[in-house]
Amino acid sequence: MTQPLAPGKTLGILGGGQLGRLIAEAAKGLGYRTAALDGSIHSPALQVVDLPIIGPVDDAVAAMKLAEASDLVTLEWELIPVKILENVAKARPTFPEPSVLGLIQDRLIQRNFLARHGFPQTAYGEADTALGWNYPVIIKRRTYGYDGKGQCRLMKESDAPKAAEVLKAPCVWEKFVDFKAEISVILARGRGGEIAAYPVAENVHRGGILHSTLAPARIPKDVAANAVALATKIAHALGHVGVMAVEMFLLHDESLLVNEIAPRVHNSGHYTLGACATSQFEQHVRAVCGLPLGSTAQTAPAVMINLLGDLWAKREPRWSVVEAIPGAKLHLYGKPDARPGRKMGHYVVVGPGAAAEFERADARLAAMSA
Ligand code: ATP
Ligand code: MG
Repeated sequence: MTQPLAPGKTLGILGGGQLGRLIAEAAKGLGYRTAALDGSIHSPALQVVDLPIIGPVDDAVAAMKLAEASDLVTLEWELIPVKILENVAKARPTFPEPSVLGLIQDRLIQRNFLARHGFPQTAYGEADTALGWNYPVIIKRRTYGYDGKGQCRLMKESDAPKAAEVLKAPCVWEKFVDFKAEISVILARGRGGEIAAYPVAENVHRGGILHSTLAPARIPKDVAANAVALATKIAHALGHVGVMAVEMFLLHDESLLVNEIAPRVHNSGHYTLGACATSQFEQHVRAVCGLPLGSTAQTAPAVMINLLGDLWAKREPRWSVVEAIPGAKLHLYGKPDARPGRKMGHYVVVGPGAAAEFERADARLAAMSA
């Protein structure tokens, strides 16, 4: 059994995005040194770690450089080629283990994994021919999709030509789900299999991108308990170590379907930083480093609103709008260029006004960019 990572040692992070940045800041808070690998010194995580390592995240030599600079390795991006992660894991303790990514990276393999274990999900299939699609469907690339990219919605068979571009790479088809709400369970699984789950989050997506999260979700207690139980079983079946998220659809009859699994800290768990005793980022560091998991207790209702690059279209957003909201905290990721659809930052409001802020999010965003 790998020993817990002692304070003063170096935690290496594969990936340099905002998730890596927030993990690194939490790791520093626990007394660790930090390293991260990314292609640019201007990436969010490389701006804050002790040892920035510049190189492609999906490159074997660069990943090995990170491993050599670290005492233990984790990741913030689930598409690191499994072969590369296996080499890293031979050199340094690595969590989550490469086998977890092997079950998740490819949507078809992920769906087959869920099916093998009997976890509830929408009807799906390999989209190599247009046969057997159960319309309305969403065609999704099997790999390298995020924030709704590499997807195409088809209402009926005659729409099929619209999917030509997406279908240039291997895809799955998924039956479109008529859901009442989208929710996510963020939980941590420790090295010994112990679980710590956060209150279930309620999510709104726009154009396939997470727009906002309210926690706790406005759902009955038993539904929340079912969601946590389902995510817990998935974490055990994967043998995951670290924080992970399970995105789910809540149907009109209150049953749940798994949308997808993210074997890492997750955008819909950003509210935990500020609203919970232990943030998802600290919890992830605790889990992978072999420390006892922290309390997931939520102190007050919380809302998280994403800030996309579109807000910068005319000029810098009017930050005074966020500053004037009681209990609001702004997080900017330090990305140098604001492109439409790019996640530039978020703000979290913790307190009794959270649910009202969830409803008011669009008005706030409009005021920021007016
Ligand atoms: P990310 O990894 O950023 O969460 P992604 O690109 O992997 O996103 P999905 O989570 O598969 O994409 O889909 C994005 C959103 O599209 C979902 O949150 C949901 O709103 C909608 N969506 C996806 N699949 C379905 C489906 N089968 N039925 C209805 N809506 C869906
Ligand atoms: Mg998703």
